[in-house]
Amino acid sequence: MTKRILVTGGAGFLGSHLCDRLVAQGHDVICLDNLFTSQKSNIVHLLDHKNFEFVRHDVIDPFKAEVDQIYNLACPAAPGHYQYNPIKTIKTSVMGAINMLGLAKRVRARILHASTSEVYGDPEVHPQTEAYRGCVNPIGIRACYDEGKRAAETLMFDYQRQHKVDVRVVRIFNTYGPRMHPYDGRVVSNFIRQAVNGEDITIYGDGLQTRSFCYCDDLLDAMESMMNGPDGFHGPVNTGNPGEFTIRELAELVVDISSSSSQIVTARPLPQDDPLQRKPDIALAQEKLGWSPKISLRDGLQRTIEWFRSADLSKYRPPTPNY
Ligand code: NAD
Ligand code: UDP
Repeated sequence: MTKRILVTGGAGFLGSHLCDRLVAQGHDVICLDNLFTSQKSNIVHLLDHKNFEFVRHDVIDPFKAEVDQIYNLACPAAPGHYQYNPIKTIKTSVMGAINMLGLAKRVRARILHASTSEVYGDPEVHPQTEAYRGCVNPIGIRACYDEGKRAAETLMFDYQRQHKVDVRVVRIFNTYGPRMHPYDGRVVSNFIRQAVNGEDITIYGDGLQTRSFCYCDDLLDAMESMMNGPDGFHGPVNTGNPGEFTIRELAELVVDISSSSSQIVTARPLPQDDPLQRKPDIALAQEKLGWSPKISLRDGLQRTIEWFRSADLSKYRPPTPNY
């Protein structure tokens, strides 16, 4: 059935792919974004579509619309982006969640919130299950994002208990793919940009820290399954690819796939509070949603490298000096 769907952060990397899918499925889509870490080029092909509407709006201010579902993705996601204006980041997470939950309550919409593996901080439990409560430094440079997302989760479950809002919370682990901001400073975008330009590949620390990388199409399958999943299942649910790679292995894979002449160098010490290991336990997503990622890191990187080669990177505005 055709639904009216609001996507906050809809012009961003994940949000724009989600809008593409929802519009293609025939839904009536409102994309709400203040374009802080994205640009219209991600959604320009949708602007003339009869099922699509773009609204330039900041989620820290209330927004009213008659909708059936809300995907709440608005928030800077890359460390360089969320640390650029940390007070704004936590306001976006918390006030954005309050405003979208208020809207969901008023119009009885279902709301899916894009939470993060960062709620686990630098984890002492490995792999991370949803039951693990995390190890976050509340006063460190990542706290604006980590604690903002933790508070947003609290709000989701309080609105669910107090007002019976149908909330759905996904904890997204590192996700990559076409339309990542090439200057967002994240490891995949940095390494690919450096490799295709023949620049040094910059490893922070010894490169033995690990991450699990999920291709965007797999992640969006999980998000849609969660939004339309079983009644009464609110999560939180881990969504990510359980393949675990060191950052050095990632660098070597990018150089190999892109046949780059770049050198892999140790560029600077590990940033403060940088998690040493990260890998999702996805048993809950498999059981409740029947979901598992399908795209290997090699295939996903191949597709992402092709996009980086075809995109005009000079058109992307570096929003922060941290790349
Ligand atoms: P992104 O930066 O490309 O997208 C975020 C979007 O939100 C951007 O379009 C940005 O302009 C918009 N935005 C930021 N602040 C806003 C505000 N105050 N009002 C309105 N719009 C605002 O990042 P992404 O990777 O697509 O992430 C999307 C969501 O998924 C985020 O909530 C992020 O925290 C979450 N997430 C992503 C990952 C990942 O690896 N990509 C991992 C964990 C969680
Ligand atoms: N990283 C790196 N070189 C870069 C960018 C990042 O070695 O050019 C490291 C970073 O220190 C971290 C990992 O790669 O250990 C993932 O960083 P990212 O910013 O992509 O996301 P995070 O998972 O830390 O939020």
